[in-house]
Amino acid sequence: MIIWLPVLWIATGVCLFAGMHFLRAGHTQEDVRLFHAFGILCLAVAAYIGVSALLQAPVAGTPSVRLERLHITILCLVFPAAVWFMALYSRLQRWQPWVLASVAVFGALLGLNLAGPHSLLLAEARPLAPMVLPWGERVAQITGITAPLAPAFYAATLGVFCWAFWRCLALWKRGDATRARPLAAYLILQLAATGYSEYTMLRPRPTLDWDALPFLVLVLLLSRTLNLELRSYAVALDASNAALREENGLRDRAEAKLRQMAYNDAISGLPNRHALSDRLAAILATAPLPHGALVVIDPQRFEVINHALGHRTGDLLIRELGNRLSRAVAGKEFVARLSGDEFAAVLFVPATDAATALAQALHRAEELHEALAHPWQVGASTLSINTHMGLVMFDEAGGNGDTLLRQAYAALHAAKAAGRNEPTAFTQAMQAQAERRMRIEVDLHAAIANQQLHLVYQPQVDRGGSLVGAEALLRWDHPAYGTVNPAEFVAIAEDSGQMPALGLLVLRMAFSTLARLPSRGSFRLSINVSPWQLFLADFLETMQMAIREAAVDPRRVMLEITETALIHDIPDAVAKLQALVAIGIQVSIDDFGTGYASVARLKTLPVHELKIDQAFIRDMSVTTPDRFVAALIGLGDAMHLRVVAEGVEREDQRDALIRMGCDALQGYLISRPIPADALAEWMQ
Ligand code: C2E
Ligand code: MG
Ligand code: MG
Repeated sequence: MIIWLPVLWIATGVCLFAGMHFLRAGHTQEDVRLFHAFGILCLAVAAYIGVSALLQAPVAGTPSVRLERLHITILCLVFPAAVWFMALYSRLQRWQPWVLASVAVFGALLGLNLAGPHSLLLAEARPLAPMVLPWGERVAQITGITAPLAPAFYAATLGVFCWAFWRCLALWKRGDATRARPLAAYLILQLAATGYSEYTMLRPRPTLDWDALPFLVLVLLLSRTLNLELRSYAVALDASNAALREENGLRDRAEAKLRQMAYNDAISGLPNRHALSDRLAAILATAPLPHGALVVIDPQRFEVINHALGHRTGDLLIRELGNRLSRAVAGKEFVARLSGDEFAAVLFVPATDAATALAQALHRAEELHEALAHPWQVGASTLSINTHMGLVMFDEAGGNGDTLLRQAYAALHAAKAAGRNEPTAFTQAMQAQAERRMRIEVDLHAAIANQQLHLVYQPQVDRGGSLVGAEALLRWDHPAYGTVNPAEFVAIAEDSGQMPALGLLVLRMAFSTLARLPSRGSFRLSINVSPWQLFLADFLETMQMAIREAAVDPRRVMLEITETALIHDIPDAVAKLQALVAIGIQVSIDDFGTGYASVARLKTLPVHELKIDQAFIRDMSVTTPDRFVAALIGLGDAMHLRVVAEGVEREDQRDALIRMGCDALQGYLISRPIPADALAEWMQ
């Protein structure tokens, strides 16, 4: 029966396997080094046990003395490898000097082993008769006399063992019992084994050479420990991978959210201007270009509602408008929110020829218009939203999305300027208009800053023809366009946020003129105030400051406010007006009859004058008393308000108005707007 040699071969295989395994293991730089050291140690041990097996194989002939020398050579490699491994294993910070020292000592011994006349340990080595083990197995043996340098070798190995014990103690002290325990077990076993084999060497009766087996124990014990560590690394790695995946997920979600925020409007949830540009570009890039249109939608009076009912209601309204538009589009069509109260819709139509496509697109836009116009209940009030719409067909812009949007805006502004309530299609003529508008908007900034605007004054007379007041009207001599009408540029100033600056300029110029005019009994200077100015938080302070600066008597000032500014309950605006009225300023409702002011509201407002809009004067009947104008004058009378007619161009109009009891007249018949000096002269 053969047992012993197979045991040695199996031990060799186990060590080989462990060596290969640990050479490929490790995650961090630190444990890679440890595992590599252990792998190399395992391989050296495998070689040592393998050569042991060869030495003991009862092959024909005698076991080679050279093999014996090889055996010791490998042992000289095992020890430095063991020092390297144990230094790292016991977490020795400065491990390099120890490894170098062991390499130097065992290197020297290795050299002597190879260079000498006989091996380092045995001189005069010779084979003995094979030993027969109790179960009948025959094992080859070798003997000889102890070589002179053998004590040096044993001293070196003893040194390594002592050092290893020290490292093991160090591990215990650090509280690292998991590592210390298997190392201690091995060292005790190794010490016992070495002692025993030294003892048997001294006896003449040969014994089985099982020196190599403690190394197997070392490999097995420490493989287990290191494998456990490897597994816990793997678990930790899994955990950190999971954490990383979780973090990636979080980042992906955050990115999606950011993208959503970048491409969607927060209030309405609709795609925003960026998203619209991207999608438009994609549509315009498709060939053949589908028939369809871009519509820009601008609800009228949104700012007023926003101020009157609060921003929360404004947001609700935006959302409601967005929802209605979304419900009104279908299929590939979509709606976007451009900014503030402006929306855009991209519509597709089935037609194949341009003319029909335009008609169909206008029809679709009209449907959107109706969807928006449906009355809307907010708390106690019912709102109805009228919208201006500019429309442009996809094929107008030559494939450029920005141009398309500009053209839709041009159509929108044309619709606004014309007061058209139905969707208006873009025409090339609007382009020039849009460019003019843009230029005016840009130039107006400089004009306000450099005071390139001035006021003219249109006199107002009473029924007897005496001067009772004048209205300050803005003029702008534009370098390219000549005189630009306030009806054009005031609206642009309002749209582009320049009204506060422009309003202040008007107040200053008007007050400085008023301060220079001769004081005459009942003369009042009327100044137009835009609702935008009235809504400014510091309107009251600005007004008081301008009055103080110019040192004018507030009782000579009349503020003209359009009805629209007062349609809704705007407690804030009313409070400001009341504060101004308290210091003697009066308030006039301009363009009366065109807005939506409820007559009931007039009673509670601080109002002193009604100005009948010139459209009613132009159209009024002069042969028979005009019922509508008479009603307006009657209303003013009943409420003890002064009634002024504006736009009086003919004598028959003047006479009819006087007959109906109008208090004051203003118009080209009396005088065109004149410079301040001319007005001063008139007053003299
Ligand atoms: P508004 O306040 O209703 O001013 C009356 C407009 O009618 C003035 O036009 C005036 O020149 C014009 N007008 C006066 N008499 C006649 C007439 O007999 N026939 C005709 N066809 N027109 C007449 P203007 O100066 O072009 O001003 C237009 C509008 O611009 C004003 O309407 C007012 O709403 C606004 N505006 C003018 N100046 C200012 C200003 O300083 N501030 C503000 N916020 N708005 C101003
Ligand atoms: Mg006016
Ligand atoms: Mg007017």
